[in-house]
Amino acid sequence: MSGNRDYRGIDLFRIAAAFLVVAIHTSPLASYSATADFILTREIARVAVPFFFMTTGFFVLGSRERTLSFLKKTAVIYALSILLYLPVNVYAGHLDGLTIAGLFTQLFFEGTFYHLWYLPAALLGVPIASLLLKKLGARAALAISALLYCAGLLGDSYYGLIDGVPGIGPFYDALLSIMGHARNGLFYAPVFLLLGSRLRDRRPGGKFSAAGLILSGALLIGEGLALRSMELQLHDSMYIFLPAVMYFLFELLSSIRGSCPRWAANFSLLVYILHPAIIIVVRGAARLLGLWGPLVENSIGHYLAVCALSALSSAAILPLFGLLFFPRQGPRSRAWLELDSSALRHNYRALSELLPPAGRLMCVLKADAYGLGAKGAVPALSAEGASLWAAATAEEGKMLRKYGAKGLILILGRTPVSDIAVLRRYRLTQTVVSLEYARELASARRRVDVQIKLDTGMHRLGIDWMDIDSIDAVFSTPFLRVTGMYTHLASSENLNPSDADFTREQSERFFAAAETLRSRGRDVGMLHTQSSYGLLNYPELRCDCARTGIALCGVKSSEGDSTARWPGLRPVLSLRARVAEVRTVPPGEGVGYDRAYVTRRETRLAAIPVGYADGIFRTANGAHALVNGKAAPIAGRICMDQLLLDITDCGEVRPGDIVTFIGRDGSAAISAEELASQCGTITNELFSRLGSRLPRIWI
Ligand SMILES: *Cc1c(COP(=O)(O)O)cnc(C)c1O
Repeated sequence: MSGNRDYRGIDLFRIAAAFLVVAIHTSPLASYSATADFILTREIARVAVPFFFMTTGFFVLGSRERTLSFLKKTAVIYALSILLYLPVNVYAGHLDGLTIAGLFTQLFFEGTFYHLWYLPAALLGVPIASLLLKKLGARAALAISALLYCAGLLGDSYYGLIDGVPGIGPFYDALLSIMGHARNGLFYAPVFLLLGSRLRDRRPGGKFSAAGLILSGALLIGEGLALRSMELQLHDSMYIFLPAVMYFLFELLSSIRGSCPRWAANFSLLVYILHPAIIIVVRGAARLLGLWGPLVENSIGHYLAVCALSALSSAAILPLFGLLFFPRQGPRSRAWLELDSSALRHNYRALSELLPPAGRLMCVLKADAYGLGAKGAVPALSAEGASLWAAATAEEGKMLRKYGAKGLILILGRTPVSDIAVLRRYRLTQTVVSLEYARELASARRRVDVQIKLDTGMHRLGIDWMDIDSIDAVFSTPFLRVTGMYTHLASSENLNPSDADFTREQSERFFAAAETLRSRGRDVGMLHTQSSYGLLNYPELRCDCARTGIALCGVKSSEGDSTARWPGLRPVLSLRARVAEVRTVPPGEGVGYDRAYVTRRETRLAAIPVGYADGIFRTANGAHALVNGKAAPIAGRICMDQLLLDITDCGEVRPGDIVTFIGRDGSAAISAEELASQCGTITNELFSRLGSRLPRIWI
């Protein structure tokens, strides 16, 4: 069985590319032949920076999370590099007489020190390429970036063609006075970024990459020499054949697989950033040591000295650098729930509109708000003015109060009389489920607010609706203050005629009982019957409030449920995790416990640190997750804390990548209803069993 397979070719070439950049800035062959040096540093070495853009396109583009973290890291490195070279800039007088416009050019295009331009080009090019990719799709984005590149050619190697041409010449001169060079984040970076992302999406192939590289490479060298002899070049970063060379080179490199040095990326970046400083150091040292001849005047000696010292200092800083950019993911490091408070608030408003004019919504937040986490749900709903709440137990009610719930908190279950202190301390309203229970409560001789539950056909809790005398007796029980009455509908999730009749019958029974009590002079308080489905299916029923739980979460109980109303409710909850490990196994291998899953082809597997303890039922047969916006089936048995996904068809996946079990990923999505049905249950159960160890992250 092979272990991790990674892009060995790409990672090793990063190191080579860094030393090619050093060559550009030291001209290793200058003491021997100007033409040879031109071919090496102005042509061959020109693959280095496009290569770095392509690795970014390949590994980063297309994932919002990776793009953001790349931009963050690059911005930090850019800021540190500016500081590092500031003394040199000041000493060399580069900043003398700097205007605001000049500062703009320096910061956004030129990078303040000559080699740093790559960093602002990445910071500008990556958002441009991402936007093109998102809005136009891969092909059109690539086409536009190719046009931009062609436009850039005229400000670079082909400048001679337009120099002095009326209209165009002055236009480019104006452009270049703002941007400094045409090889920047607008004209130069996007095409390579998008070529990189294109190569990732169409992985295999590459039959002709070696031949293509040789051919396009020869054409590029010819192109450069011709331009040089015709003296057309203003600068020499951009050639017509460069994108072709890059395409074949990268295709070739990405086909070289195998384990690779993890440090290569940071090491090459450090060599890249530090080498101009090292050039200064080498010159200083050569002068001090009397080695000016071999270390400076001899171009190869100079190059080797700069490379060696850059490599040494980069290796020395590497551990520190790794620490600085060690990914800190906080609560998003393993698996977590993402909760959309604006969706929750929207759902509250949308459901409220279904109620009769004076009706209010009661937020049922039992089982820690159906898994959402009451701690975040209470503030979000309070911001919408929620003032009626319900919980299953006194302990849950106490937590709602602690999280800031104002107004009435109704406890739906039977609270043992021994817990009456909790009811009183947190001003909770207790449900009276029978006359006996009312008397037991009163025996504590403490005042408690209550609402009376009537049984109108559910036969779970409550006093029979026809037993008016018992209900009436609760009103006259000392210490109990009755603030309302309610019942629970047994079949409101169904719309067929017999269930509809039964639902209306329950409502009529309830209000008939209430009328009788009123006629006996009782103040019955607030009256309510509907839960989520009662409100969605029978919004015309009389009520002072409706007790909604699952509908506030923005989901139905089951995928197939049709409701009379669905006021654009939005799902609140997403469940995500990070890839822990990736491996490849050959065909015919058993995978996981009992070797229950047998691979039919060479299969890439990702281990994900969620399991049934996190709420993915062990019975979730046939369920899948989303990786890179593509479906990844669960492979084999779900364990307590882990499961395996088949990611063979999901493109490039690395440890740390995000996996979505519920929610949206790019243009794909998995609904809670879908996962619940694969678990053989309803969303209510799925949500209420989401593991307490999942951090709840409100956004
Ligand atoms: C759970 C519960 C509700 C809320 O039910 P949903 O279907 O989630 O809206 C309402 N009333 C009672 C008595 C409940 O137990």
